[in-house]
Amino acid sequence: TTDVYARLDTLEAQALDETVSDLAVRLGRLGDTSPLDTRRATALGMLADPQHVLDLDLDVPARPVSTPTLFLHVDADDLETGTAGSIEQLGPATLTLIAEWLHRVGKVRIQPVLDTASTQAVDRHDPPEWMQTLVVLRDKHCVFPGCRTDARSCDLDHIAPYDEHGPPGQTSPSSLAPLCRRHHNRKTHHGWRYRRTDTGYEWLSLLGRDPLGPQLNSRRAGV
Ligand SMILES: [Zn+2]
Repeated sequence: TTDVYARLDTLEAQALDETVSDLAVRLGRLGDTSPLDTRRATALGMLADPQHVLDLDLDVPARPVSTPTLFLHVDADDLETGTAGSIEQLGPATLTLIAEWLHRVGKVRIQPVLDTASTQAVDRHDPPEWMQTLVVLRDKHCVFPGCRTDARSCDLDHIAPYDEHGPPGQTSPSSLAPLCRRHHNRKTHHGWRYRRTDTGYEWLSLLGRDPLGPQLNSRRAGV
């Protein structure tokens, strides 16, 4: 076998990935019992002969093309300098690239302006969507030391346990942090505690101190 690496336009890479997955699923329905990754490899190989793929009578209705989701962050500085902001997980964008992508996708959803400095609290356990977004953008990843699980796939944890009979305003940006499922479990079931500090998050084990000493998971600059 041979490994293949490719650098593609992001939208085309996403479309290729979906096509390969789609073909792999169809191969499975046609009786190929190999694991999904093997079927994906077979599917990619099939694209070497596109006519062969077209000739196959797959008899499976095509699923609708999915809509890609890209998070483009634009702040006041970008508006002043005329730059296009930054695409989450990809980096700085150019106006030309954004214009080209917007031309190619059918539907665009614009999120309202988010004040990332807001400290507003709410009187309920679950944070509203704006607060979830703020915490995700602020911390970017799970705040357990060394963990880099994307904050968008994390749980938002109340750093101090939420008390149903406690005071109002227990849910605010400063009382929440993203934890991946594994580290959320570690906090919930294994007695770990943590707090926000000026420079990041300080974690303490069940015994009051981590055998390795308190660990900091520094927040990145520029938040
Ligand atoms: Zn984690």
